[in-house]
Amino acid sequence: MVRNFEEILRELRKFRENDMDYGDGRIMSSMCTPPFLGPEELKRIFDIFHAVNIGDSRISRGSQELEREVIRKIGEFLGNKRAEGYITTGGTESNIFAIMYARMLGLKEKGIIHGNIVVPDSAHFSFQKIEMMGIEVKRAELNPDRTVNVESLEKLIDDNTFAVVGIAGNTEYGRVDDIRSIGEICYDRDVFLHIDAAFGGFVIPFIPRKYIKELYEVRSFDFKIKGVSSITVDPHKMGMSIIPSGGILFRDFKEVFNLKPHYIQAKCTLTGTRSAFPVAVTYATLELMGERGFRKVVGECIENTLYFRERLERRGVETLHPTLNILNFRVEKIPDGYALSSTRDGYRRAVIMPHVKRDNIDSFIRLLSE
Ligand code: PLP
Repeated sequence: MVRNFEEILRELRKFRENDMDYGDGRIMSSMCTPPFLGPEELKRIFDIFHAVNIGDSRISRGSQELEREVIRKIGEFLGNKRAEGYITTGGTESNIFAIMYARMLGLKEKGIIHGNIVVPDSAHFSFQKIEMMGIEVKRAELNPDRTVNVESLEKLIDDNTFAVVGIAGNTEYGRVDDIRSIGEICYDRDVFLHIDAAFGGFVIPFIPRKYIKELYEVRSFDFKIKGVSSITVDPHKMGMSIIPSGGILFRDFKEVFNLKPHYIQAKCTLTGTRSAFPVAVTYATLELMGERGFRKVVGECIENTLYFRERLERRGVETLHPTLNILNFRVEKIPDGYALSSTRDGYRRAVIMPHVKRDNIDSFIRLLSE
């Protein structure tokens, strides 16, 4: 029996009904948010790009040129408009690809065969996935403020270290490591330095100056620091693009992979077949929002984070001084129906994304006191 499209659509909606919706203001655990472009605009872009495999160089030259342009634009606000890279599916893929690249570079240039990487103990669990592939992952201790302890990190570097990782906006607390000091160490010791700015990459460059002194240790992290070799930065988080869109950028990309598939012309990326749609949406989002747009969005999120903190403190709730738009606080119980995460040491973690409005914060506080 051939089924009817309308019937399938109803069925799809039913599946969707069991999801939470950003609009109800109770999603406070997510680093994703509704995209800047509305459904109608997205549909028009989808019309143009929906069947393009940007992973196939022979048939998608135009879309690949578009991708280079997107990377150039992101590179521009990260201090290097000559950066090379590609649009990934998110921070996990970007981190894995950066380490895969660094491993090949270490092998080719230094003959490191069974190497290791050094990451902050606060690193995202994508680095556990890297560990599962047989790469030794050494974890540097954290300072009491939950940034990485640079001395501990330096001590772990040895002759077999092919990459060091620093974090600009860690997942649980939003803290920014001292990338300047880590950059100096890596530059002096000629070690590849990867920065995971999946979250902070689209926040830190756009924090309005008036908020910087109200926040805790917002530091530089980008290619302007000479030791920085690559950066993960996600358009599908604070970049206001669609899921899935991540980014991996390299200061100086070298051909280390030597992959020559017989059936396709492709540059080396972690995934094979890739959609051009997220690339096109990211391009349109960057162009339409511009620096002013990002400053506005980031400014509102920071303002709401500080507001949230102030409201909690007024009720005697312990909070941590935020660095970005992530707020940690201690309460025994949270109101029913909220998506809120916890950290390893028992703090609640709210990510104040653009869909978290003041009204939602007020409702949360009200329910908390009931
Ligand atoms: N890196 C950091 C710092 C993150 O916070 C996250 C996600 O929360 C990731 C990487 C992974 O990103 P994704 O879920 O897009 O793979």
